[in-house]
Amino acid sequence: MKINSLSKEDALRALVSSENGLSEEEAAKRLSESGFNEIREVRKTSLLIRFLRQFTHFLALLLWVGAGLAFLSDALNPGEDMATLGFAIVGVIFINAVFTYIQEYRAEKALEALKKLLPFYVRVVREGKESQIPSREVVPGDIILLSEGDRIPADARLLDVSMLKVNNASLTGESEASLRNALPADGELLESPNIVFAGTSVTSGSGKALVFATGMGTEFGRIAHLTSTVQEDLSPLQKEIVKATRVVATIAALVGVFFFVLGFVIGRSFWSNFIFAIGITVALIPEGLLPTVTLSLAMASQRMAKRKALIKNLSSAETLGCVTVVCTDKTGTLTQNSMTASALWKDDRILAAEDFRAQVDDRLLQTAFFCNNARFTDNEYKGDPTETALLRLGRERLGDLSAERIFEIPFDSDRKRMTTLNRTGDGEYVYTKGAMESILPLCSRLLRNGIEREVDESFREEALTAYNQLMDRGLRVLAFAYKKHGGSFLIPDSSSLEADLVFAGLIGLEDPPRPEVPEAIRKCHDAGIRVIMITGDGSRTAVAIAREIGLVRGEPVVVEGPEFVKMEDRELREKLSAKEIIFARMTPKHKMRVVSILQEEGEWVAVTGDGVNDAPALKKADIGISMGISGTDVAKEASDMILLDDNFATIVNAVEEGRAVYENIRKFITYIFASNIPEAVPYLAYILLRIPLPLTIMQILAVDLGTDMLPALALGAEKPTPAVMKQPPRSRKERLLNLSVLFRAYLFLGPIEAAACMFGFFYVLYGGGWSWGTALPQNDVLYLQATTACLTAIIISQIGNVFACRSAAESVRSLGFFSNGFIFIGIAFELCLQLFIVYSPFGNRIFSTHPLSPATWLALIPFALLLLFGEEARKLLAHRLRRNPAS
Ligand code: ATP
Repeated sequence: MKINSLSKEDALRALVSSENGLSEEEAAKRLSESGFNEIREVRKTSLLIRFLRQFTHFLALLLWVGAGLAFLSDALNPGEDMATLGFAIVGVIFINAVFTYIQEYRAEKALEALKKLLPFYVRVVREGKESQIPSREVVPGDIILLSEGDRIPADARLLDVSMLKVNNASLTGESEASLRNALPADGELLESPNIVFAGTSVTSGSGKALVFATGMGTEFGRIAHLTSTVQEDLSPLQKEIVKATRVVATIAALVGVFFFVLGFVIGRSFWSNFIFAIGITVALIPEGLLPTVTLSLAMASQRMAKRKALIKNLSSAETLGCVTVVCTDKTGTLTQNSMTASALWKDDRILAAEDFRAQVDDRLLQTAFFCNNARFTDNEYKGDPTETALLRLGRERLGDLSAERIFEIPFDSDRKRMTTLNRTGDGEYVYTKGAMESILPLCSRLLRNGIEREVDESFREEALTAYNQLMDRGLRVLAFAYKKHGGSFLIPDSSSLEADLVFAGLIGLEDPPRPEVPEAIRKCHDAGIRVIMITGDGSRTAVAIAREIGLVRGEPVVVEGPEFVKMEDRELREKLSAKEIIFARMTPKHKMRVVSILQEEGEWVAVTGDGVNDAPALKKADIGISMGISGTDVAKEASDMILLDDNFATIVNAVEEGRAVYENIRKFITYIFASNIPEAVPYLAYILLRIPLPLTIMQILAVDLGTDMLPALALGAEKPTPAVMKQPPRSRKERLLNLSVLFRAYLFLGPIEAAACMFGFFYVLYGGGWSWGTALPQNDVLYLQATTACLTAIIISQIGNVFACRSAAESVRSLGFFSNGFIFIGIAFELCLQLFIVYSPFGNRIFSTHPLSPATWLALIPFALLLLFGEEARKLLAHRLRRNPAS
């Protein structure tokens, strides 16, 4: 018998469970038998294949061709030792593959670790009590409780439902949510209305279900077995890097051809020319760039997680840096979502909540108490903060009341109200609470001083004035109404239940802003990011809170939901161009339209959301942001970033990190590119000036794939500076490799380094008695020392350069000399490697070097200082010019 065809009782019996759930002991036993409730990722490509792939991408192929040509020329023209170059290139391919693989692996692990930071929880009944457990600990036989927005953790047979709708799209492709029931049914499990499946989600209503399959035993697990995990796309930045490296590789090849032709023109031999051409091409290819970018994105996402922003893929880290508009909810994001009843309007008077004394038959408080799903258990209020505040007020004034609830129309943000039907000692009552606009039209009577009267125009005016006054205090105001229910019915019908109500009064709830928010808003303004509040609350409440947190200073344009619906796109676009705009009385459905129009206007939009209905807007936005604490699982899944603390200030921190990561990537690109000039100039000098070659190919590779690596990574770990949030968002069109980066690297930093390396070379040669025009054999000690000095000069000036590149505009002093510890680790590594290359016999053999005297080192140090101070002077000048453009 399949579980869908069993009765509830039989199903419970079949799984040896009961309505009270399993005992903790039994659950632990089953967990050890069935294993964790998780889908094991099926990796399609093995680690080995992924490693081998490093040998076949574009740059690797280019290098293979280079190696092939070197071996070929060695075969055709033995004696020039070209095979060594061939081996060196193969070595480069290997080093590069290992390095890239390690970087990618680390980046992937970092992301996996992030995903684990956010366990999904599920409500279960065990030993008769309701508790929350991580969804991976659910076992067959568990009773789970489901409500709107929950992701269903395992395959389960429904036991009870209340208007439960589930979206099975992830399993069946059916995108319409379907109503579920708890009755036995025949047929296939997948089509059975009394079964819910892991990986699907609750779109509305609630229910209780018995788990019968977990982990890989679920339908979803079975499908996961068949399909492989989806390959993640490269982020736009990574794509840009791929493109940029291809361009640079092509330039490198052209430079190679140029040297080849140049040498040919001035009459150098074909083969030695050929070998240079290949060598210089290999040396100029920026092999390690892409993996370094990937790793620094991964590191940025870890830093974001430390600041409570969890991003789900690497591309979001950089997209965040481009955000120009943040559309944010109010409740819980800008405010603390800790509500307290602060004022009431009753019998035509506004009262402070603390001065309010009530009788047991107070209809306003009764409505607040009964039309409420919050609970007071274990000395704690549990549930939605709006409702807990009302429950608290009711309990404190009336004590614990009881009345059986016969029917409920749950709150939803479209209707903006909730209604219950309760059986009390004195008959059945309908209780309704919600937004004023949605309650007042339902009322035909009002309660004043214990007497029910007809609602008339003057009452409407009074009520609205009071409502506005409470909202102007920044309170969330709810209206309350009730009626004695006379008629009996079998199927409650909402329109008759919610008609002809008696208006009982208003309650204003205070929800203070989060203390960090005003500062975060100020940061956004400084950073040229607009913040638009989109709230379900009334406009006056929204404006009052917006003023309190500094979101608006003047008179903002306010658009309310009902007006919004009627507006044409053109009109809305006009409104959106206002400097300060607030959307009030909005439903989540409306958000999507705001996002689309902003995007059409060329903005990069981040939007927040927590409910099921927010999912489309979260998906549509450039960055969808969900709430880690109050958000539903559906919203979390649809979003790109999850705020672990629900706090608006965290969004701003993440944007700051996003901007910093882009800047950091630029920093290490400048650093790496600057060293290309001192690598190329010796070749030009060699060919044009006819001097011995100052730097060998192997030595260039030592810089590119050795000493430069860690300092470059250290630049990727620079912390954001305050200046990052003082400039406008980056434009979509902006390229990573722009003219200013290229000028700075190639025309300023690079030439200083080139001067250093040529100085080092001649310093040793002339010191050793060399005179211009004298040829030197390749194994001559003086020659070996001179090339070693040339290499050492590059290394030393790169030390100055790494400090210079820590910022394109800020001085090292203002950054704090010691504020990035990784820089010092990078430099220590660089120096150790260089000492090994210069002083160990092994290093000498591989890199054709020879030990240098301390005096040579000392002679080269001023170049590092020259580079650093030259750069500081340039920054100072640029700073001054920016401040006084006229002078
Ligand atoms: P924000 O968009 O700023 O986060 P929100 O999403 O909390 O606000 P909604 O939950 O849609 O906004 O609430 C909108 C209005 O609905 C509130 O102003 C209030 O009048 C009413 N409301 C909120 N919660 C309830 C509830 N539990 N029962 C009845 N009415 C409610």
